[in-house]
Amino acid sequence: MSEYLLPEPVVRTEEVRELARDLMVIPNRGVQLVPNIGVIGGTHSVLVVETGMGRRNAETVLAFAAEYAAGRRLYLTTTHFHPEHAFGAQVFAGEATFLLNRAQAEDLSTKGAAYLEMFRGLGEPVARQLEGVEIAAPDVVYDDAYDLDLGGRVVRMRATGRAHSKGDQVITIPDAGAMFTGDLVEAGQFAIFPWFPPHDTDVSGTRWIAVIRRLADASPRVVVPGHGDVGGPQLLADVRDYLELLRDETWVRRDSAVSERTIVEEVTALMIERHPEWAGREWIEKGVGCLCAEHPA
Ligand SMILES: [Zn+2]
Repeated sequence: MSEYLLPEPVVRTEEVRELARDLMVIPNRGVQLVPNIGVIGGTHSVLVVETGMGRRNAETVLAFAAEYAAGRRLYLTTTHFHPEHAFGAQVFAGEATFLLNRAQAEDLSTKGAAYLEMFRGLGEPVARQLEGVEIAAPDVVYDDAYDLDLGGRVVRMRATGRAHSKGDQVITIPDAGAMFTGDLVEAGQFAIFPWFPPHDTDVSGTRWIAVIRRLADASPRVVVPGHGDVGGPQLLADVRDYLELLRDETWVRRDSAVSERTIVEEVTALMIERHPEWAGREWIEKGVGCLCAEHPA
């Protein structure tokens, strides 16, 4: 794999933001392979959402969370198994109870090692963060839904079913009208389709559309995307509109037996024209490939 010129994917806590009472986000500051990280408090417990990539980043997150918790019990969860979201969980062992939905726990155990190797190939800055990473196992696994009582605040953890990955999970804080979506939603960039046939074909454009419609129906006031700036319900609408357009433009060409190469070229040009300011243009082609495979023949 070629050496990408990625900046050092380092979590920094200087610009931490309070979204609501006892609800903090450590923002990704637009740095690739750094996720938005949540720290959500109740009277007796604090939930951390996402670890950052690798041990050092997770140590930064844990140090912040432990100080913030000030003696309250710590929990950890991650939105999905991808390295910058979940590959620091080992650092929380013995410090926090690690909760996951079953499908995500299975993603971690079946594909974690392969993703570790793949990401180590993304260049020295990424490989450095992944030194000494071991895939951690959750302490508690739930099937579809888990309500976590933090004391005076109940946080809803929900498995969405396969979309961006097989094991996506969203975390909602109803009293604050806030939702952590992981990579089901990005702000200011094209949806990430980890479509790598034959190695990984778990992402599903059609299921993703169904999931994002359901999330939009819940109309959260505050949406914390996997990457990019925190926003409101418009972020969900933007992703839904993009995915539906990507599907429609791909399928209409597929219907008229246009070659996949031409579909990629035409749809990519169209999407860039629609969203010239969005980053991550390389993911459009992956999305087209995924939706071609999902075309109802
Ligand atoms: Zn992801």
